[in-house]
Amino acid sequence: MKLGVVWFTVDLRCSDQHMLWRAAQEVDYLVCLYCDEPHNNRPSRYSTQGMSANRRRFLEQGLNDLASQLATMGQKLFVSSMDAVTSLNLLLNEIPISHLYHNHHEGWNEQQTLKRIASQFPDVRLHLNHGLSLFTPSQLPFDVANLPDSFSKFRRLVENLDVFTPLPALQKLPPAPTFNIQHISPWSKKRIENESAFTGGEHAAMDQLSDYFSTDLPSQYKATRNELDGWENSTKFSPWLAQGSLSARQIKASIDVYERDHGASESTYWIYFELLWREYFHWYATRYGKQLFLPGSLTGKQTQGSYYAKRFRKWSQGNTPYPLVNACMKQLNETGFMSNRGRQIVASCLIYELGIDWRYGAAYFEEQLIDYNVGSNWGNWQYIAGVGADPRGSRHFNLERQTELYASKHLFIDKWQGHIFDGQLDSVDAADWPIYPTSSPKP
Ligand SMILES: Cc1cc2nc3c(=O)[nH]c(=O)nc-3n(C[C@H](O)[C@H](O)[C@H](O)COP(=O)(O)OP(=O)(O)OC[C@H]3O[C@@H](n4cnc5c(N)ncnc54)[C@H](O)[C@@H]3O)c2cc1C
Repeated sequence: MKLGVVWFTVDLRCSDQHMLWRAAQEVDYLVCLYCDEPHNNRPSRYSTQGMSANRRRFLEQGLNDLASQLATMGQKLFVSSMDAVTSLNLLLNEIPISHLYHNHHEGWNEQQTLKRIASQFPDVRLHLNHGLSLFTPSQLPFDVANLPDSFSKFRRLVENLDVFTPLPALQKLPPAPTFNIQHISPWSKKRIENESAFTGGEHAAMDQLSDYFSTDLPSQYKATRNELDGWENSTKFSPWLAQGSLSARQIKASIDVYERDHGASESTYWIYFELLWREYFHWYATRYGKQLFLPGSLTGKQTQGSYYAKRFRKWSQGNTPYPLVNACMKQLNETGFMSNRGRQIVASCLIYELGIDWRYGAAYFEEQLIDYNVGSNWGNWQYIAGVGADPRGSRHFNLERQTELYASKHLFIDKWQGHIFDGQLDSVDAADWPIYPTSSPKP
């Protein structure tokens, strides 16, 4: 009798899910497991608080949806309140598991967890799939250890590769075995109030995918993608991609169908171009591991930023001398989402206007963004800080110019009350000396 575990992480979906197909072919009993990692709910070393209410809501909606989909296939979703190593230890010691199915996760900590599990249970057959990316390592025309050192070089090498056709969902899965382990129990569906435009889970992801490609928005994407606001101006796929209720391959398949029916354009290509950025950061995080979190990262440079507790708090609250930055931060805090342009602007402000170590900003985004993804978040912050894979060195955005270009009518700034600033950025200076309020403080 063969018994398997499908270990879900940021891949909360049943369609295009290779691990479920493989498990259905190979085992007689199956445990579908998600570990609600306790570290997500604890304050981090960067003074942030752990997963925000927006992120948690989106996650729980995703779990609700996954549990109901698995139920239609005769399965259950088990959720553990313990970290993955402890949970899998509890499970593997209690029932005779022979197979473990998992998707490669690009995060350093997640890779360490997997290594620990593999070494503690050498008799369990580990099947590692690549369900979070467009390509598998064997499709890439280079070894991941030799990842090109810039996005442009990477893009040129991969953009014409074939992308696998997404797999459909299964009708039926092997049943769950009976076991009784404290901390690991079937997910009980939660009632969740939702006033957000984003609802977690595969159903909502599929709705967004088909809604988006049933309009002519893909043909306008390139011209609108930089707007600060507006549902239609970009695809809004990122939250579902981040929780894995939508796969990059499913988006690519929809682009292909759209291009077949409506014609290819620079705009439709550009959606794929942006997905390739995500792909680059996926392999970048895989390749560079913990360097993703080091201040100087690939460059080994000393970070120029420091930590000013009060400035950081004001930046995160949207209470700085920069109305555009304030509006973007308030939008993030309220909704868990911010446009790509907004992210670039607030990141640049934190690093270059406020002189704060970029990692504090990345950690704050990790807490707040419903589309938080380790590679895309930390990789993009490094890019702006000039310590990552950017041949240009660094990206300092001129805030006045950005306001002229993207918020000249001030509608966005007014909507989020970006003009509100209490006039004081610091109450102590970097050496802890008291300072007096000024109307335009120097960073
Ligand atoms: C400082 C900073 C932090 C970021 N953190 C994240 C993050 O944690 N998670 C995340 O998914 N994206 C992150 N991004 C990238 C980008 O801002 C979002 O992917 C995008 O705004 C999501 O909106 P959308 O789905 O409408 O994107 P669209 O413009 O419609 O793009 C389509 C898809 O392409 C991908 N994409 C687009 N731009 C980028 C990019 N610059 N880098 C990587 N992938 C991209 C996303 O998967 C996105 O869903 C960050 C960017 C910056 C500058």
